[in-house]
Amino acid sequence: MLTLDTELSHIKGINKRIIAGLAKMGIGNVRGLLLHLPARYDDFSQASGIADLAIGQTATVRGHVRKISMRRTFRRNLTVIEAVIADHTGAIRAVWFNQPYLMNTLAVGTPGSFAGKVTYAQNGLCLSSPVYEPEEAEATHTGGLIPIYPETKGVTSRGIRYLVKPILQALGQIPDCVPASVLKASGLPDFTIALNAAHFPASLEEAETGKKRIAFEDLFLLQMTNLQTKMRLAQEPAHPVPWTAAERDHLLAALPFKLTASQRTALDEILLDIARPHPMNRLLQGDVGSGKTVVVAMAALLAAKHGLQTAILAPTEVLARQHYATIMKLFGAAIADWHSSAALVTGHEARMFYGEGLETAVPKARIAERVKDGHLHIVIGTHAILQKSVSFSRLALIAVDEQHRFGVEQRATLGKKAAAGAKLPIPHFLSMSATPIPRTLSLTVFGDLELSTIDELPQGRLPIVTKIVPDASRAKAYDFMRAQAKQGRQAFVICPRIESAPSDDDAGLPAAKSHWDDVKAVEDEYERLAKRVFPDLRVGMLHGKMKSAEKAETMKRFSSGDLDILVATSVIEVGVDVPNASIMAIEDADRFGLAQLYQFRGRVGRGEHQSACLLFTKNRSAIARERLTALMTAKNGFELAERDLLLRGPGEFLGQHQTGLPDTMMGALKNIELVKAARAGALKTLEAHGEEQPPLLAERLLRFKHSIHLE
Ligand code: ADP
Ligand code: MG
Repeated sequence: MLTLDTELSHIKGINKRIIAGLAKMGIGNVRGLLLHLPARYDDFSQASGIADLAIGQTATVRGHVRKISMRRTFRRNLTVIEAVIADHTGAIRAVWFNQPYLMNTLAVGTPGSFAGKVTYAQNGLCLSSPVYEPEEAEATHTGGLIPIYPETKGVTSRGIRYLVKPILQALGQIPDCVPASVLKASGLPDFTIALNAAHFPASLEEAETGKKRIAFEDLFLLQMTNLQTKMRLAQEPAHPVPWTAAERDHLLAALPFKLTASQRTALDEILLDIARPHPMNRLLQGDVGSGKTVVVAMAALLAAKHGLQTAILAPTEVLARQHYATIMKLFGAAIADWHSSAALVTGHEARMFYGEGLETAVPKARIAERVKDGHLHIVIGTHAILQKSVSFSRLALIAVDEQHRFGVEQRATLGKKAAAGAKLPIPHFLSMSATPIPRTLSLTVFGDLELSTIDELPQGRLPIVTKIVPDASRAKAYDFMRAQAKQGRQAFVICPRIESAPSDDDAGLPAAKSHWDDVKAVEDEYERLAKRVFPDLRVGMLHGKMKSAEKAETMKRFSSGDLDILVATSVIEVGVDVPNASIMAIEDADRFGLAQLYQFRGRVGRGEHQSACLLFTKNRSAIARERLTALMTAKNGFELAERDLLLRGPGEFLGQHQTGLPDTMMGALKNIELVKAARAGALKTLEAHGEEQPPLLAERLLRFKHSIHLE
């Protein structure tokens, strides 16, 4: 019996070459074949008359072969087939390269449709390598719309059509894993109808609906997975933090400023969560400088007051040190008051703050001991160091910078090892992100996280002036930078790569290597600026390939005002707080994603000085200009994030944090309505069935979880 799981190689009569070709595209069974959806549909009912064709047009011509011949070019050893196609309005040449078999298919007089690009060659119009469809056979299959599939060697659209049609017929009604009630509520057809509609639609609308339903299934399964994770987590134990309003107010009073309204909301949401005996799973998003660290620190301090521990993990040493500095500056007194303690642990240093406000460098082993016996409450460090070398006794909260996923297993590695059968408390989890995440993504990929958003900056920040600087205005921009430096301000210069040789991809952009050939390299740019442009200023360099100690030293010099200009790669993207910096200059700005540029810009305008963001670009294309202009007009990071999502797709957008989702889902992630419908459907299904899903859905979910990698 034929099912979705039947291997194509087990079906009699399928050409071995097609099977091999499909295998190369990762298609092995019936399901894979049926989910290999048409990229487009050629509308044969609207074929163009040959007399009306224009150069550059992609057209479908319906006619017959009037002449055909094959020759071989000697120099490049290509076979060239030339034909003349005629209809009742006229005739046109058609040319194919290296497809000798067409000589057998296209005998003189053969009727059919020829779809391809109209070009101009040898004094006349010409269809170049048109796709040929025999007319009669196709008409009965599709009634006008011909599906065109992504093809590969040995696998033509036509071959796929001839395979799909009988298989769909033989399958008949396919059992649907999405509950009928969910489909009904979302106004979508069942799987069988959807597949038939996507492959052999009567209209383009029908095809769209079919494809939408197929995309919906992935979104639905993803939502189910995330919501199940969330439900399971909600049953795990956690250390409740029994903070009191008086304690909270004590900390608020200790601050030299008043929290913004959205900081306050986020704080309340977090504090409510961590007071519960089940683990929090929350994403705290807010622009750089919006005051996330302050909020997290308050939660950590309240936990510490009750003898509970917090780990704050940062991706880089620079950031870890900065978190530590912020917390010490704002809450050092409170920590001493409450007889709590805090420590910083990175690859290169370990320091502890305890007792009557003493801070000392200590051996890491000492910190590890204190963490283990529970005396040390707040530990700030890099992911790598903390996860490797420290084990907590009463870990209540993990706050992680720029990492959205932190599995239960991963959390467990930071805490005590559970005895067999025992349930250990799972730490509350808070992810801090300065990358504004588009709503569709936070609802899907991060659907198991609650969301807190700080969407305003503390008062008194001046808006940043953003300017696109074409090469012709470079000198003027440098004059401006020099003038700022003479007034005591500082500037960042960001370049997309490290060295001039195209070996590495520091910005995380998957552009073709050749694209990078003329892209500013940090080392070259540093040389140029330090020696030739600004010999009178103090210029430093920072990139990911430098040793940690060097990086820290350079960063320290810039922070303390010993450098006027810092030439850097995107390493400075996350974190880094230098209120005196007033210029963010970005070389080849068009190479970066909008969300990334937005974050760069957030490095300046953090003090009382009017700041500027200079976007250098050599790219004069309208698209590049439009993208950069978006940076000037967008109201906030979310708007830019949504645009980036559309322009570059979620994988790009999230940078190193891959979504872990199959490519086929990426398109669906752009459709907020579909995402919302899938979430509502998943919620309803979980409410109706709890943990026990109908067998077909349970089985599909299991497979789905294997196919994605969310952690
Ligand atoms: P983030 O972690 O979101 O980048 P931080 O918490 O590090 O932001 O805060 C950035 C700077 O702004 C810090 O120096 C902090 O002391 C200050 N800050 C935070 N919240 C406020 C506020 N409500 N009013 C004034 N300054 C604030
Ligand atoms: Mg911060």
